[in-house]
Amino acid sequence: MTSFSDSIQQKTDFSVEEICSLLETTGEGNTASLFSHACRVKNAHARRGVHFRGIIELSNICERDCLYCGIRRSNLDVTRFQMTKQQILDAAAWTHKAGYGSLVIQAGERRDAGFIDFIEEMLREIKKLSGGALGITLSLGEQSKDVYARWFEAGAHRYLLRIETSDPELYRQIHPPGYSFEERVACLGFLRETGYQVGTGVMIGLPGQTVAQLASDILFFKENDIDMIGMGPYIPHHSTPMFQKPLELSVDSRFKLGLNMIAVTRIVLRDVNIAATTALQALKSDGRELGLQAGANIIMPNVTSTEYRTGYQLYDNKPCMDENSEVCRDNLVAGIKNAGETVIYGQWGDSKHFCKRKGIESSHDSATVSQLSGHARRLEQC
Ligand code: SF4
Repeated sequence: MTSFSDSIQQKTDFSVEEICSLLETTGEGNTASLFSHACRVKNAHARRGVHFRGIIELSNICERDCLYCGIRRSNLDVTRFQMTKQQILDAAAWTHKAGYGSLVIQAGERRDAGFIDFIEEMLREIKKLSGGALGITLSLGEQSKDVYARWFEAGAHRYLLRIETSDPELYRQIHPPGYSFEERVACLGFLRETGYQVGTGVMIGLPGQTVAQLASDILFFKENDIDMIGMGPYIPHHSTPMFQKPLELSVDSRFKLGLNMIAVTRIVLRDVNIAATTALQALKSDGRELGLQAGANIIMPNVTSTEYRTGYQLYDNKPCMDENSEVCRDNLVAGIKNAGETVIYGQWGDSKHFCKRKGIESSHDSATVSQLSGHARRLEQC
């Protein structure tokens, strides 16, 4: 059985080889030992409890053509949609009333002025309707530094931009010609300079991907001072070029590797927020709860109107297609309770890593702060 001696528990610097060895943990006893160590690290260093971020997938219109994605521009089988302003505000109001504390706004990537203005307006409206209490994460792809700054000023304070893999050659293989790995990494820098809590993540079990590449992904998170991680097993979509590529790992192996990635990322990075993503649930019905038990502390329940759910499938067999926001919440809350975890309501649940790098040590995370200006409030949440 893998033994986590005192020296490993205190360890903060890991080599690629050491991370590979942890990622390759197999067997019930060894895996239980890995996960329980990851949870000890979580409880000692990260935000306690489980924080919900209600996710609004507001449009599946995308300018890009990533070779693995079900809503890529070239997939003509998809009926494109864009939620109206009122539909988005209704979803935000529901999220606020449910006490989730935070929203994630996600969509396909668009850089046109109309879309940029629309998001900016939505951010201001959502802040207004919640009296500033809802924290907002954006996941809207690569944008200019100026656009990131405009959205930050309008009220967003976290941004998730998945790198998908930190290996430039593998990145090239899963994207069309001309998609620049370096530009994507540069965007992570722009986000940090703007003041966001910066999130990224990778796919796990891609065709041709090695354990050493996944270990390097974890070191990439560390070297780039990442605050939040959202990653999950790779699941093919039938209408994409990558669907034809043979997979080396079975569904079960990709699922287990996904959990190991959460646990090892927790052990190496310690104080970041890590999401138990929907891709885990797509492979196993209680996948997100198992993700929490492996070291994750964030869950993003879908609050998008069910009429749009089928239009937003980045991969096949995405779960919760017909569960409305209430059913989705009730199922999750019951599963989380069964997993022995507690949902924290009414707080932003910001990444402790972010608070530390901003030099804020005290912790009085409360979404009831209403008298502060936007920037001050962002710090207050730490
Ligand atoms: S992964 Fe994102 S940017 Fe790429 S095609 Fe899909 S939605 Fe668009």
